[in-house]
Amino acid sequence: MTHRYDIVIIGTGAGGGTIARELSTTGARILIVERGDYVPQEDENWSPSAVWKDLRYRTTERWLDEQGREFQPYTHYNVGGNTKYWGSVLYRLRREDFQEMRHEDGVSPAWPIDYETLAPYYDRAERMYHVHGQAGDDPTEPPRGPYPHPPVEHSREIGEIVLRLREQGLHPSPLPLGVIRPGEDGGCILCATCNSFPCKLHAKSEAEVCGIEPALRVPSVTLWTRALARRLIASGSRVEAVEIERGGDVVRVEAPLVIVCCGAVNSAALLLRSTSADHPQGLANSSGLAGRRYMAHLATMMQGFHPFRRNTTVFQKTVAINDFYLRGPDTPFPLGQIQSQGRTHGIMAKAVVPWAPLWAYEAWVARGVDWLAMTEDLPRDDNRVVIDSDGRIRLHYTPNNLGAHRRLVKETTRILKRLGFLVVMTHSHKNKNTTHQCGTLVFGSDPRRSVLDPYCRTHDVENLFVVDASFFPSSAAVNPGLTIAAQAIRVADHIKETQL
Ligand SMILES: Cc1cc2nc3c(=O)[nH]c(=O)nc-3n(C[C@H](O)[C@H](O)[C@H](O)COP(=O)(O)OP(=O)(O)OC[C@H]3O[C@@H](n4cnc5c(N)ncnc54)[C@H](O)[C@@H]3O)c2cc1C
Ligand code: SF4
Repeated sequence: MTHRYDIVIIGTGAGGGTIARELSTTGARILIVERGDYVPQEDENWSPSAVWKDLRYRTTERWLDEQGREFQPYTHYNVGGNTKYWGSVLYRLRREDFQEMRHEDGVSPAWPIDYETLAPYYDRAERMYHVHGQAGDDPTEPPRGPYPHPPVEHSREIGEIVLRLREQGLHPSPLPLGVIRPGEDGGCILCATCNSFPCKLHAKSEAEVCGIEPALRVPSVTLWTRALARRLIASGSRVEAVEIERGGDVVRVEAPLVIVCCGAVNSAALLLRSTSADHPQGLANSSGLAGRRYMAHLATMMQGFHPFRRNTTVFQKTVAINDFYLRGPDTPFPLGQIQSQGRTHGIMAKAVVPWAPLWAYEAWVARGVDWLAMTEDLPRDDNRVVIDSDGRIRLHYTPNNLGAHRRLVKETTRILKRLGFLVVMTHSHKNKNTTHQCGTLVFGSDPRRSVLDPYCRTHDVENLFVVDASFFPSSAAVNPGLTIAAQAIRVADHIKETQL
């Protein structure tokens, strides 16, 4: 059976949800295709046991690593994509992130656009995603106006930590957060189950609430859930149709414009699976780069613990330290970012190290303050998504820039010890952390060295765009979501001007 629309958007996460909303007002007949379903608003949304022990919302799909060993990726297939679970820390990249930057382990390449090009779209993305923050405190902040909303207030403990960080000569700044009407009736209640949990109140700024829901209010926009895009069918330099598996059937959807937003790994996989006589290496892959330059950030969870200090903070994710973002204290190379994290729950700790009793973990985490140390990893051709002969995703990823990350963790430990924490615990998902996946279909001006052009249109296929984390030529060291959304708005404007 064949269906016809003006635009097909595949995926409903940060890229798909945002571009769907932006294009919804054009009057075009838009079909949004999502492989997952809606996440129900239910008590389990905020249950650490459901989320961390039963992995209730995570995909059960297994990917393979470079050795062919199966692993369960930390990713989610549902309306809103991974944004349903994000901590909603919505940062702009630093101005320097758009330029070539030398790191301890090599060069982070320049983007084909500069910060000033994306700045007006960051403004719009911050409004769409209700970002709360405060300009002026962060030493690495790019030029910008005021945030749309004031910062989320620190708890008493975090407020005291901020003062003592300043006494250490550091420049702590409020984390920019996407939450809807915090503290107001019907708004965000600033609870302890935000990062990694779906919001039961729909008060988190995520792609279902801020993108898909408003888009679907327009009658010309349709959403198919439980609809998996299997391959794109192309002839010459045009996509003709998308082959979709839905309710046990395979249907064909034709549209003059196709926008792929499946997330960095799945978008690359979809293009690589879409081989044909004209495109034997996969679609839009004349450069041979489709799937390559996968990045994911180096991330270590850290906890400062003091046996006699109970931490009564509920919403803890409010402060960042960017003093080592561009250079370390004893190295000219960038180290990355330190953020406070959502509260760890005993069951989360037990999921990582199962042998101790839950009560011991509960007692432990009640006396801990949680942090995240995050470092940029660099694009390497060998870090890549490939498709096995049976169609499965195989992810080759050897982390790099580890020296810089070790220094950042060491420096964070020093800071936490100076704050009086007696023990500092660390944990990392290492090379299996796919939460900040990016960079498999990088954008650039040269078709031999990039897959997408600076507006995220594929160099090879004139009616095919990819709008999600795939376009990142470097991973930077701040959370990726706002940059995906800002570029999605920029691409939507470009499409309105040139394609419709
Ligand atoms: C626990 C967690 C915390 C995070 N915290 C933050 C944070 O605080 N700040 C931040 O900026 N980022 C955060 N991130 C990362 C952020 O969520 C991602 O960078 C962002 O969602 C990526 O957007 P995307 O559009 O590339 O992909 P996704 O959001 O993953 O969306 C891809 C969509 O495509 C669908 N899809 C995939 N393949 C197909 C197919 N073949 N057919 C149909 N549909 C398909 C998926 O189901 C999904 O809905 C976090 C992620 C996680 C998991
Ligand atoms: S109520 Fe606020 S803090 Fe709690 S999950 Fe929702 S958005 Fe996050």
